[in-house]
Amino acid sequence: SNFNSLSLSRPVLKALGDLGYATPSPIQGATIPIALLGKDIIAGAVTGSGKTAAYMIPIIERLIYKPAKVASTRVVVLAPTRELAIQVADMGRKLGKYINGLTFGLAVGGLNLRQQEQILKTRPDIVIATPGRFIDHVRNSSSFNVDSVEVLVIDEADRMLEEGFQDELNEIMHLLPSKRQTMLFSATMNSKIKQLVSLSLKRPVRVMT
Ligand code: AMP
Repeated sequence: SNFNSLSLSRPVLKALGDLGYATPSPIQGATIPIALLGKDIIAGAVTGSGKTAAYMIPIIERLIYKPAKVASTRVVVLAPTRELAIQVADMGRKLGKYINGLTFGLAVGGLNLRQQEQILKTRPDIVIATPGRFIDHVRNSSSFNVDSVEVLVIDEADRMLEEGFQDELNEIMHLLPSKRQTMLFSATMNSKIKQLVSLSLKRPVRVMT
């Protein structure tokens, strides 16, 4: 099977070609069709499985087909570390390179707060964040607004809980609109993850590869 059978748009297929990706990885093949339907997803996926593109491709497809009328942040990706957040943003930019006007913002600890604030004020389409810094920005910035968020990704959920972000995640679920698509990726599934799942996802489809 190849990416053409997933009925993706030309700009995304072209970007995949530039990246040299010929065939979807198992997690991509399993996740992309379900994500394109707008369903909530729990995916068991380790680093190296291609999980980033598994959620980023359907996110970009959504943003192409339903353009925003005004600048608004429509997607939030939560990652446990700054390093992972930067990698996710990098992958997003590569996959979205042929889509005019697609914007990204980072909200992560350890990078200049004011500079991030300036970018978040412009309401980038996709914000990639670590939980603590995300909450700081939502609380302290009158111009960064998350009322238009349609998609939430919780990447490396197990590591997120290991890093002690349980309370932050709970708070973020309350800050974001409840009508949204949520996709959770985790290498392991335990009772804490199940608790997070029941708090943040609605009738999720389970994808195990
Ligand atoms: P990830 O699990 O998202 O961290 O991705 C692991 C690595 O696989 C990254 O270096 C990606 O660039 C690469 N990758 C992701 N999807 C594909 C694909 N369909 N074909 C080849 N390489 C891929």
